[in-house]
Amino acid sequence: MKCGVKTLFFVVPCYNEQEVLNETAKRLLEKFEALKSAGKISDESRICFVDDGSKDRTWEIIERLHAENPVFRGIKLSRNRGHQNALLAGLMTVKGECDAVVSLDADLQDDINAVDEMLQKHEEGAEIVYGVRSARKTDTFFKKATAQGYYKILRLMGAEIVYNHADYRLMGRRALDALESFKEVNLFLRGIVPLIGFKTDTVFYERHERFAGESKYPLKKMISFAAEGITSLSVKPIRLISSLGFIIFMISIAMLVYFLIRHFSGATVAGWTSIVVSVWAIGGLQLLAIGVIGEYIGKIYLETKSRPKFIVDEYLK
Ligand code: UDP
Ligand code: MG
Repeated sequence: MKCGVKTLFFVVPCYNEQEVLNETAKRLLEKFEALKSAGKISDESRICFVDDGSKDRTWEIIERLHAENPVFRGIKLSRNRGHQNALLAGLMTVKGECDAVVSLDADLQDDINAVDEMLQKHEEGAEIVYGVRSARKTDTFFKKATAQGYYKILRLMGAEIVYNHADYRLMGRRALDALESFKEVNLFLRGIVPLIGFKTDTVFYERHERFAGESKYPLKKMISFAAEGITSLSVKPIRLISSLGFIIFMISIAMLVYFLIRHFSGATVAGWTSIVVSVWAIGGLQLLAIGVIGEYIGKIYLETKSRPKFIVDEYLK
C-alpha cells in the first residue's frame, strides 16, 4: 500500500430509504471519484449500504447499484434492528478490509465534503475523527432545545459524549478492532466510541435538511434512544434516587418530631391534607424509583442473555 493512500469504506445504514437512495448513491460516488482522482483513497475503497430490514424497495435498489457498479456493496440484515445496530453491523462486517470507515446517514444530512478533512486528520494520526455540526439552523426550536438539554443531562450523569456529534465519524482500523471488544448488547455508539480512547480529533460541518423522505426517528424513538443513552452509560440515576430517598427519610423524621410536639402540646391536627399529600408524594416517588431500578434490571437481563446484536442475511461484495 502506498503511504497516504487509504482504503476507505463508507458505511451507510438504511431503513426504508427508497426515496433518497439513488440520489445518495450518486452523490457518494461523485465524492468517491473525486477522492480517488486526488489520490487520497485507494481503488479498493467501497461504499457499503446496510439494509436494516426495510419494508420498501431499499434492498432492490442496493442490489441494482451493486450490479451496476461493484464500488457499491450491500449488507442485508435479517430484520430491523435499529440504526445503532445496523451501523455496528456495517462496521464489523467491513473492518477487515479497510484502513478506515466513515459512517454516515442515508439522507446525507451530514455534509459529505467534511470527509476530506476527516481523512486529513486521520493522516495526521487521529484514530477517530468526530464530525461535529457547527450550527443547528435547520432544526426546529423543539429539536434544538431538547437536543441541547439532553447533552447537558448526559454530562451531568457523567457520560462522556462529544457535543453535537451524531454518528458521522471516521474510525481507523485499530479503533474498529477495539470497538469489537465492547460486548454490550444495549448499544449507544456515541457514548461507547469515546471510551475507546486513542488520539481523536473533530471536524466541523453544517447539517442540512433531509432532501427527500421522512425522518426514521419519530419522537417516540427519539425518547427511547435518549433514555437508552443515559442508562447505558451511567448508573447515576440509581444513585440520585438513593439520595432522594435518604433526604425524604430525613424530612419525614423531622416531620414526625414536629407532629409529636404538636400532639403533646395539645394542638390537635386536622391532619387529612398532610396525610393525603404525603401518601401521594411518597407513593409516586416509590413508583419512580422502582421504574428506574427496573430499567437497569431489564438491561442486566438483556446483557446476560447476550443475544447477537445483528444477523447478516446477505452480503453483496
Ligand atoms: N435508520 C436505520 N434503522 C432504523 C431507523 C433509522 O438504519 O430503524 C437509519 C436511517 O435510514 C438513516 C439513519 O438511520 O440513514 C438516521 O435516520 P434519520 O435520518 O431518519 O434520523 P434523523 O436524521 O431524523 O435523526
Ligand atoms: Mg436524518
